[in-house]
Amino acid sequence: MTTNTETIKTLINGQWAESASEATIEIKAPHNDELIGRVPSLSQNELNDSISKTVAAQEDWATKSIQERGSILLKWADILESRKEELGATIMKEVAKKKSSAEGEVTRTADFIRYTVEEAYRLHGDALRGDSFKGGSKKKIGLAEKAPLGTILAIGPFNYPMNLSASKIAPALVMGNSVIFKPATQGAISGIKMVEALIEAGLPAELVTLATGRGSVIGDFLVQHPSVDMINFTGGTATGEHISKLSSMIPVVLELGGKDPAIVLEDADLDKAAKEIVAGAYSYSGQRCTAIKRVLVKDEVADELVQKIEAKVKDLKVGMPEDNADITPLIDDKSADYVQGLIDEAKEQGATVVAGDKRDGRLLNATLLDNVTTEMRIAWEEPFGPVLPIIRVSSEEEAVRIANDSEYGLQASVFSNDTDRAMRIAEKLEVGTVQLNAKTERGPDHFPFLGVKSSGLGVQGITEALRSVVRDKVTVINM
Ligand code: NAP
Repeated sequence: MTTNTETIKTLINGQWAESASEATIEIKAPHNDELIGRVPSLSQNELNDSISKTVAAQEDWATKSIQERGSILLKWADILESRKEELGATIMKEVAKKKSSAEGEVTRTADFIRYTVEEAYRLHGDALRGDSFKGGSKKKIGLAEKAPLGTILAIGPFNYPMNLSASKIAPALVMGNSVIFKPATQGAISGIKMVEALIEAGLPAELVTLATGRGSVIGDFLVQHPSVDMINFTGGTATGEHISKLSSMIPVVLELGGKDPAIVLEDADLDKAAKEIVAGAYSYSGQRCTAIKRVLVKDEVADELVQKIEAKVKDLKVGMPEDNADITPLIDDKSADYVQGLIDEAKEQGATVVAGDKRDGRLLNATLLDNVTTEMRIAWEEPFGPVLPIIRVSSEEEAVRIANDSEYGLQASVFSNDTDRAMRIAEKLEVGTVQLNAKTERGPDHFPFLGVKSSGLGVQGITEALRSVVRDKVTVINM
């Protein structure tokens, strides 16, 4: 086993530095426990100093033209893409994501940044005449401009340590805000490398405070910091709810957990449904917010669908991220224990194991459970691991009822060859997005992306993300 005891510097006070206390957090690869590096564990005082510089730097940044800001971000995208292999290798090691997907995340991030800049160029304000109300006057002209909010706190999850961080940082910066970026601890090295490229692209370094440290230690402090003007968070529902309670009088965008159902009707193309469901449920070992996390299938086609899913599950490669395995070890022991606990409990309650249920440490084989009932925890909880429960239903209404009984409302898939019927069901589903005859997924990144109920607050997707970091600033000309 190779080890790397180096402390990787973070960006505070406009400089790359370690914590003055020399406190660090060891980052180990989830799949082999290799020490990849140490990241600074910053104190509240250090963060406070750096945040005051980040807040001050925003004033000048906001005066720059959007072209000027955009050109730095476009250069950032080019640098990231030119380092696809290196950055992909960092993501792969840090979060045990298969090599091709880790590199794909870098490319997707670069594309995301480019589209964000182009879209920002077209986000204009408005001019209004004051004569639309009785007694109004044409001599009153309101100029509604898009002004930056100030300093944005961007908090990212472990599972897409670059993409879901850049998707917060790029809109904030291009619209003239500064950023406090708190990466997930398991994902902090990827976050640091991504910000290194941003500074190399020419961003004034004080515009970003890179707040490395455990969320449990510095999270509440950051969320309640009086200089934060908006919070953009992606992560678990419990953390998101906690943040929404702590924050006060500032906008908060939350992208949280999900329990996305795939509803399969008797008239569906079952081969297609099985293919989409397997890709949707098991890619990155199910550690995706929009993973398909339950199947609600009509009784009459359930046996056939389960057979087709089983065949595809058995083709999934289980192993290490370097070998491009589809199923790789989960992020930590606690997550693996939790998933295994859900599987064990479901088995005890009568669920049938069709595939998987084999474990080696954090590596859980792709598991398919049939005959899951609504009495079982796995019918409702988000495993964030490679397990898919099949719930058989006798009617379309029952499928919709179980889909909507969930505390979550991120996405849902409906598989049917009858478009009218699928649309009817889509209308009834309490989720942010319904996918017809395809797996649930976040992209394309310019589509609005949102969760309802405990799955989120506010809307992402490039255009909405840009709108979320500005406010109207109205100047009235009285002629
Ligand atoms: P998490 O445990 O909630 O952590 C998310 C982030 O919050 C991390 O940076 C974490 O820092 C930080 N944090 C922890 N406590 C905090 C506090 N008190 N105040 C502020 N920040 C705090 O989530 P995760 O395990 O990384 O990600 C998995 C979850 O994210 C799943 O539920 C998944 O569904 C959800 N997710 C949702 C979306 C979406 O778009 N809807 C996308 C991806 C993931 P530390 O790492 O230092 O603890």
